[in-house]
Amino acid sequence: MPDLTTDVRYIKGVGEQRAKSLLKLNIRTLQDLISYFPRSYDDRRAFRCISDLQPGESACVKAMVAAPPTLNRIRRGLELVKLRAVDGSGTLDVTFFNQVYLKDSLHPGETYIFYGKAEGAHLRKTMTNPLVEREDSRGLTGRIVPVYPLTAGISQGTMVKAIEQGLSACSGLLPDPLPEEVRTAHHLCRIEYAYRQIHFPDDEEQLAGARRRLVFEELFLLAIGLKKLRRRRDVLTCPPYAGTDLSDFYARLPFSLTGAQRKVIGEILSDFSAGRPMNRLVQGDVGSGKTMVAAAAIVCAARNGKQAALMAPTEILAEQHYRGLSPLLESLGVTCSLLTGGMPAKTRRAVLAGLQSGETHLVIGTHALISADVEYAGLGLVVADEQHRFGVNQRAALSAKGERPHLLVMSATPIPRTLALMIYGDLDVSVISELPPGRQKIDTFAVTSAYHQRIYNFLRKEIAAGRQAYVICSMVEENDAIPDDRKAAAEYAGMLQTQIFPDLRVDCVHGRMKPKEKDKVMSAFAAGEIHILVSTTVVEVGVDVPNATVMVVEDADRFGLSQLHQLRGRVGRGEHKSYCILISDNRSEESRARLKIMAQTGDGFKIAEEDLRLRGPGDFFGQRQHGLPALKVADLSCDMSLLHEAQQAAEELLRQDPELRGCPVTAQRVRQMFELNADTLN
Ligand code: ADP
Ligand code: MG
Repeated sequence: MPDLTTDVRYIKGVGEQRAKSLLKLNIRTLQDLISYFPRSYDDRRAFRCISDLQPGESACVKAMVAAPPTLNRIRRGLELVKLRAVDGSGTLDVTFFNQVYLKDSLHPGETYIFYGKAEGAHLRKTMTNPLVEREDSRGLTGRIVPVYPLTAGISQGTMVKAIEQGLSACSGLLPDPLPEEVRTAHHLCRIEYAYRQIHFPDDEEQLAGARRRLVFEELFLLAIGLKKLRRRRDVLTCPPYAGTDLSDFYARLPFSLTGAQRKVIGEILSDFSAGRPMNRLVQGDVGSGKTMVAAAAIVCAARNGKQAALMAPTEILAEQHYRGLSPLLESLGVTCSLLTGGMPAKTRRAVLAGLQSGETHLVIGTHALISADVEYAGLGLVVADEQHRFGVNQRAALSAKGERPHLLVMSATPIPRTLALMIYGDLDVSVISELPPGRQKIDTFAVTSAYHQRIYNFLRKEIAAGRQAYVICSMVEENDAIPDDRKAAAEYAGMLQTQIFPDLRVDCVHGRMKPKEKDKVMSAFAAGEIHILVSTTVVEVGVDVPNATVMVVEDADRFGLSQLHQLRGRVGRGEHKSYCILISDNRSEESRARLKIMAQTGDGFKIAEEDLRLRGPGDFFGQRQHGLPALKVADLSCDMSLLHEAQQAAEELLRQDPELRGCPVTAQRVRQMFELNADTLN
């Protein structure tokens, strides 16, 4: 008798070998298998008679094989099976390439369903390599067919069969994480029905219903988990900091802080004196001056005898922070050190010793700073810069360090407030809502690829004037679950280097590089040794190369607006006039409207609001920049009202049953989602 934890290899039709391939898609158990949702769907419901087939149209045809299929060997490695099928309205000539077995498995006089793209005119139609199956099998034709992200060794057909088997294997076994009252109150379908329909929908309406239910479930569990986290920290205490005079800090800055910066610093200081560990997210657009806000918090902690750790997402960013902050902080009596992986052992020991003795007030590094081998005399404040790689789980790991340090998370991803309140349910949110005065606008243009030559000329002109440029190329989505961006970036860089800019230095970074290699290229770019840096989306968050003045984005319509805004924020960081060129051949209304917004405004929050209006919150979840547990369906589709509904339902349930005693399945799924053990979530 299988249960949801049964290894997929025991599912009929899977076996050892395929189980190994499925593992690459993170599918281990029956539960994983049935939760592997389609990426899209192929609507193969349309049936036509042969005479009605339109050239270029994909459709199903029910036709009888008229004569034995023939086999032709054209040349070595190319074998054609041909057959003629009829349905009373006309004749269909079917050709299969390299599928010799079909010669003997399709029998004259029998009727089959062919699904494919038709060509030809009048009564003589053709199909090349159609899907074919017996009239009575109806697996791949005649219905809406799921399309799954795949990996080597697993075909769509295998996946479809495995999931069908999986669904029947757990028939009657699926426990519902939604309590019955919640499910009915919100008009949601039953879990088993939802799973079946999300994989094999009867029609669009059933699919929408299934999705709605699964999205709701996911957001509901997420909301419960976050609310529990929040409640857990609400009962924690820590000694309040004394009021701190920061006037010497302000006096040493070469500029005066903006009102927004001062307001946020005020919010942090009041958290410090509240006697509870702070858990605050500071959102501020690129360039809004988050670093100085963090610096103020660090000085305050140091003056209260506490140490601070500043975590950057990469070593190169950590070094940049160290160089930028330590002169200012040291002059205020805050001792700083840098901890990186590449340090000589002796230096590293000295840094660790300084932290252990309390001599060092601030340490800057990557998330390794909160690992077990770094000991602090009294860690009072952790600052995470660019929080998207600092998830809920790490936050939990932090409080486990015993000291209950204050946590300040800084993010440049502007998220509309309504959404922020939901997805950062366990954090307080501050917004730096204004940029320092005198920032120049980055001129933004949306053009078609007909402008390539002009763009290249423009790049050449800027580079001749001593500047540098980024070129972002998009990734062609392949059938793989993990698309390979290495190829896209390397090919594009190679083309630019050899065909367009043979006299300049072009290099590339991509997601499959080791952090060290990536840092090396980024450092060379920062040092001005590379003129044009090609990359997919991975241009390291926050990297400061003031000399870079042009950001070119290929296939700009494939990026979310907020993502484009982040990319644009890589330029305009120095004294030079900067430009952003968005290339897209997508002529759809929506795409044009979106790119127009980019050209019109530089305000990240406005852009995010527009993005939310145009595309719904799915994108924000999809970006995974929030450090939340990975969502499976909410990525696909979800609207704001559903988000609110799920959140309210979660609140209501927790009010009635704070320990979730009445719904163990819900409790267990929440724990699973956050991958924490029972007592950290309670
Ligand atoms: P981000 O919010 O993107 O992390 P930074 O903290 O790196 O922004 O600040 C961007 C730049 O603006 C830095 O060079 C910083 O010194 C400068 N800056 C910060 N605050 C102000 C201010 N109030 N007035 C003028 N310049 C400022
Ligand atoms: Mg920053």
